[in-house]
Amino acid sequence: MPMVPRRRRSPEDVQAAAPVEGRRQVLLAAPRGYCAGVDRAVIAVEKALEHYGPPVYVRKQIVHNLHVVSTLEAKGAIFVEETDEVPEGALLVFSAHGVSPAVVQSAEDRGLRTIDATCPLVTKVHREAQRFARDDFDILLIGHEGHEEVEGTAGEAPEHIQIVNGPEDVDKVQVRDPERLIWLSQTTLSVDETMHTVNLLKERFPTLQDPPSDDICYATSNRQAAIKKIAPTSDLVIVVGSANSSNSVRLVEVALEYGAKAAHRVDFANQVDESWFEGVRTVGVSSGASVPENLVQDVLRLLAERGYGEVEEVVTAQEDIIFSLPKEIRSALKAMGDSSQGRGGRGGRREPGPSN
Ligand code: SF4
Repeated sequence: MPMVPRRRRSPEDVQAAAPVEGRRQVLLAAPRGYCAGVDRAVIAVEKALEHYGPPVYVRKQIVHNLHVVSTLEAKGAIFVEETDEVPEGALLVFSAHGVSPAVVQSAEDRGLRTIDATCPLVTKVHREAQRFARDDFDILLIGHEGHEEVEGTAGEAPEHIQIVNGPEDVDKVQVRDPERLIWLSQTTLSVDETMHTVNLLKERFPTLQDPPSDDICYATSNRQAAIKKIAPTSDLVIVVGSANSSNSVRLVEVALEYGAKAAHRVDFANQVDESWFEGVRTVGVSSGASVPENLVQDVLRLLAERGYGEVEEVVTAQEDIIFSLPKEIRSALKAMGDSSQGRGGRGGRREPGPSN
């Protein structure tokens, strides 16, 4: 299916443009959709299937997107919750969200062959946790308890890490020595809300140290910055992304915070509710970091059918980050004589297959 045509605008143009009476339009946020870590993880599973043949087991959803998971399942991937569901000696891929050392050990104990598709930016946070635990710091990990990424990072040093879900947890924090105290975070949080939590923590612990570099990743920050630009002039914002995708859910919250009159998340275009369009002239559209572009195009086609055919893409940043594929895949490709040798994907616009 052809892409829906669109014009490009800078954020300043959007602010300057007064809404025209009766005109229906779409403001399409950019960047949106696939990040480099998701692209890499999806390609890792695809290449594993090509090279080793099905079944390839994947611990947890490789990335938090229903469409991506079902597309890979159709190709022979089997998604499991834990390593003990994988037959001994089989091939297991660890998802982009990362795993704790205990999970790696349990895979080793079962004699599994593994491919680690953890996003390098999650691995960076793991390394920070290891380093500050070694230096005997107390680590306040801001993130959502129960999220796979937080479980993986906390598992690096459980005796040093306390999880802080948000402002409501600040009063519960107990530390041994405020002089040896640092905060780290999940990569996919709201930038504003995280800084609010950090400020409250610093009121209690003025010596609290910042991470060596931002833990909230470039993709999460960029998608939030883009939606902040389109939200104030949008009567309705539609975010494409799955319910368990932290960064997609944050985009809905940020859109509402920054002035969108309404904001909804959908997995697929067929979940868009007709009642949302009542009195709506401008529709903002974005997608989470685990969402292939074809799902956004489905939403744009649906909007065009309802009279919102004029699409302005509002670009707030360019992304050209590509991560090299996991080393196990690079070696396999080299052995196959693949000339790309696993230099990762094509960034934010790659699609894993036809939409549902
Ligand atoms: S959202 Fe950020 S941390 Fe997560 S996979 Fe993408 S780049 Fe990596």
